[in-house]
Amino acid sequence: MAMQSNQTVFQGMEIPDEQQYLSCIKCGLCLSVCPTYRESFKEADSPRGRLMLLRKALAGELKLSHNLTDKMYRCLDCLACNAICPVGIKPADLALQARYLIHQSEPQPWIKPLIFKGVFPNANLMETAMLPMFLYQRLGVQSLVHKLGISNALPAQLRDSERMLPRLSRSAKSRVSETTPACGQRKYRVAFFLGCFQNLVFSDASAATVRVMAENGCEVVMPKNVKCCGMPHLGYGDVETARALAKHNIETLEKLDADVIVTDCATCGSTLKEYGHSFFSDDAEYNSRARAFSAKVKDVSEFLGSIQLREPEHPNKIRVTYHDPCHLRRGQNVWKQPRQLLQLSGAELIEMRESDWCCGSAGTQAITHYRDSMQILARKMQNVARTDATVIASGCPGCQMQLGLGVQRENLPMQVMHPIQLLDRAYRGDEK
Ligand code: SF4
Ligand code: SF4
Repeated sequence: MAMQSNQTVFQGMEIPDEQQYLSCIKCGLCLSVCPTYRESFKEADSPRGRLMLLRKALAGELKLSHNLTDKMYRCLDCLACNAICPVGIKPADLALQARYLIHQSEPQPWIKPLIFKGVFPNANLMETAMLPMFLYQRLGVQSLVHKLGISNALPAQLRDSERMLPRLSRSAKSRVSETTPACGQRKYRVAFFLGCFQNLVFSDASAATVRVMAENGCEVVMPKNVKCCGMPHLGYGDVETARALAKHNIETLEKLDADVIVTDCATCGSTLKEYGHSFFSDDAEYNSRARAFSAKVKDVSEFLGSIQLREPEHPNKIRVTYHDPCHLRRGQNVWKQPRQLLQLSGAELIEMRESDWCCGSAGTQAITHYRDSMQILARKMQNVARTDATVIASGCPGCQMQLGLGVQRENLPMQVMHPIQLLDRAYRGDEK
């Protein structure tokens, strides 16, 4: 059967620049760092393989089949291939662009627009959607399910999904004020970007972030009307909604006239920094606003690493190991600062092997590619277990949920925390 040419399949779409996919010298370096390739050892699961598949699809030699689509969605967007390629190809970015092409060229299942256009941009709806889980935990149903061994009878993926969600607290929006004054003299005015998962699932960490910044002379303004950073939309090819969310966030935060825009979510941080690079390259007016916006964005560890910090009075007497979130280490080149915060908190830092190897979370990989995700997690947990630490620290909600699941699957006596929580504890001297 004759293939359609790329002109007809991708007519009117922005296709990647040829230099991005024609200049591969097939050196194979990217294979050595790719978690999906290292699990299957299949070329089609490697960065180079994905590149070749995309190249053939663009040339009209391959159809956008289910199999090809799946290869693009199997990529974790861990950015390891981007970082190592000697000729500057960015296979991870190309896999995302391929998803965008697929998104435009195929009818989407009804659930996708419902989630990405309906739920994610609407913070109140997201909060309502979490309510059943909150009640399930708080009314004691979850502990009963576990005590009676009902969860063990569930299929493995369902059981893991059930236990992946940590114990929920009240949302950060309902417990942190819109403005928190600096303790003592105000040295900085900080706009705090509260990510959706930080708000709903890891609100203890975000409450700690605000306290630690205030403790160090920051007036913290946390606008409650920010929306999702757009990363889930980019991951699923919905670039239009990601751009609309970016515009809303830029307009909301630039009004605050803050010295710096801080987030405690690695994925949000890398996306907010990306607004000024690729989001509005075809929109001159917005591009300059986005560039000014992104220039102010910092991960909380990056920001705290750039200012004078007060010594904590109650150093932690614990052993901690640190997992580098891909979107912090490679997405933002931030890796020293979280370690410095842990050391300042008094914790003994024990480095794990391959601390920057992806944990297999990639947002929704445990749902969409469960087997791959668990294999990659098993490798991570082997390295974690060798450290003999009692806490695994990591500043990304996706990683924290995945590592929390890993701890339960391997039955390890460990807690998973954001680095900022340990510093907060060292200032406050309690276990909360
Ligand atoms: S981003 Fe990660 S998973 Fe995806 S191709 Fe590159 S190395 Fe492999
Ligand atoms: S590292 Fe770059 S040049 Fe080498 S095989 Fe991978 S994509 Fe091609």
